Amino acid sequence: MPAITGEEYKSRIDALDTEVWLDGKRIDGAISCHSAFKGVIQTQAELYDIQNNPDIKDTMTFISEKTSERIGASYLIPKSKADLEKRRQMVQRWARHSGGLMGRSPDYMNTVLASFAASIDVLKGEVNCFPERLVRFYEYARENDLSFTHTFVNPQSNRSKFAFFEKDVTNARIIKRMEEGLIVKGAKLLATQGGITDEILVFSAPGAQENCHAYGFSIPSDTPGLKFICRESFVNEDSPLSTRFEEMDTIVIFEDVLVPWERVFFHDNIKVANDFYVKGKFVPFTLHQIVARQVVKTEFLLGVAGRIVETINIGEYQHVQSKVTEIVRGLETMKALLYYSEAEAELDETGVMVPARQPLYVAINQFQEQYPRFTEIIQLLGASGLMSIPKESDFASPVGAEIDHYLRGYECKGKDRVALFRLAWDLTMSSFGSRQTLYERFFFGDPVRISQTIYQLYDEAASLNLVHELMNIKS
Ligand SMILES: Cc1cc2nc3c(=O)[nH]c(=O)nc-3n(C[C@H](O)[C@H](O)[C@H](O)COP(=O)(O)OP(=O)(O)OC[C@H]3O[C@@H](n4cnc5c(N)ncnc54)[C@H](O)[C@@H]3O)c2cc1C
Repeated sequence: MPAITGEEYKSRIDALDTEVWLDGKRIDGAISCHSAFKGVIQTQAELYDIQNNPDIKDTMTFISEKTSERIGASYLIPKSKADLEKRRQMVQRWARHSGGLMGRSPDYMNTVLASFAASIDVLKGEVNCFPERLVRFYEYARENDLSFTHTFVNPQSNRSKFAFFEKDVTNARIIKRMEEGLIVKGAKLLATQGGITDEILVFSAPGAQENCHAYGFSIPSDTPGLKFICRESFVNEDSPLSTRFEEMDTIVIFEDVLVPWERVFFHDNIKVANDFYVKGKFVPFTLHQIVARQVVKTEFLLGVAGRIVETINIGEYQHVQSKVTEIVRGLETMKALLYYSEAEAELDETGVMVPARQPLYVAINQFQEQYPRFTEIIQLLGASGLMSIPKESDFASPVGAEIDHYLRGYECKGKDRVALFRLAWDLTMSSFGSRQTLYERFFFGDPVRISQTIYQLYDEAASLNLVHELMNIKS
């Protein structure tokens, strides 16, 4: 089957009987028509249509070796630096459609699954591991252009170093091994886009301590016993971004869920569960997708800051220039790290071209700190303008002409100025905007622990030797 269209995605999601709970009620009927989901599902459908645009088919798709059909490039396992570049261009083309605001456009999870399939060497020859099932499933997903959510992280009930002394009563765990498959019970969080994808990929979080928590599998979103519990919706009909890009986050509950063996990639193996993250290709490939998107998002933030400067004519002030330059520095650094990761990519022993990890780790860890600062800069430049944002209905009312007059900007009408400031508010201050900030801080992991990982992995030998050389010490 070739890369799907937007309509195919929508009808497939609507046909599922997924158990999604919002505001204390189970969602009934076509989820693509529900007010909390219709915007993001429509945007996602547009992404699938972009994938089918004949003018950019060479960027967005590649030819399947199995069927000779054109399939999504987000499933491509790169074998050369040209493949990595193609992947970057594909990610950025999709990211431009949302200004980088959709962290879970389908390329994110498709990249994760491709990276898992490219890491089967970690599973080979290990107990309770089924690399051939993982490859079969990857090919099935790739050829059918399946969409995914995922959940890896355990509930936040106790994060102390000694939590393993306590009896675990929350984390999803294997409670039975049956002839038909595994039975899983418990919870996981979060699953962004939970309930609006074909499948959910479930892997144990790094650091599993018991066999029952060491697993990796994928199941259809409407598997019996699987429940997605939504946070409140941040869709606000008067906000330009949330109506199109609000990706719901869900808690996932497994109520004695049967995972058929064909979908179990490994189970009851703590060593493999941890090696899969550390030695597999999940980190470099997923970070390559993430940083490519974050570059586009930074371009978007820079554009919003620049438009505010123009609209109220504040470009002559030195501190305004410095603040905009801070975003420029962030953008150029992210781009440099992304290209550096490609330039330093290496073909590994399995024939896969792996981007360099360190520049990508540095990029994400830096962005976790910079993104909140960029949003702060937009607030500092926008000031009260971010609160003078009457709605469309105000402009259409008897006081509309006065509002249009009094809220005008430098060489622009009140209505246009308000549209820009409403967008800046939605980006940085609304519930949608605040969630964007939390997302960039945490979605790939705790910034503190990512920084520790950089410290632990960084090879300082050249720097240490330089000190010895300059001090003329023989080591
Ligand atoms: C908007 C959003 C969307 C997300 N979407 C998904 C998704 O789709 N799928 C998914 O699997 N996950 C998702 N996540 C979860 C994300 O991976 C986690 O937030 C992240 O890994 C951090 O874990 P935590 O939230 O449990 O924080 P915790 O680990 O509980 O950390 C809380 C605080 O305690 C500190 N802390 C805890 N333990 C330690 C320690 N060992 N050492 C030092 N400090 C510590 C942290 O620094 C932090 O300050 C999402 C998160 C957000 C915010």
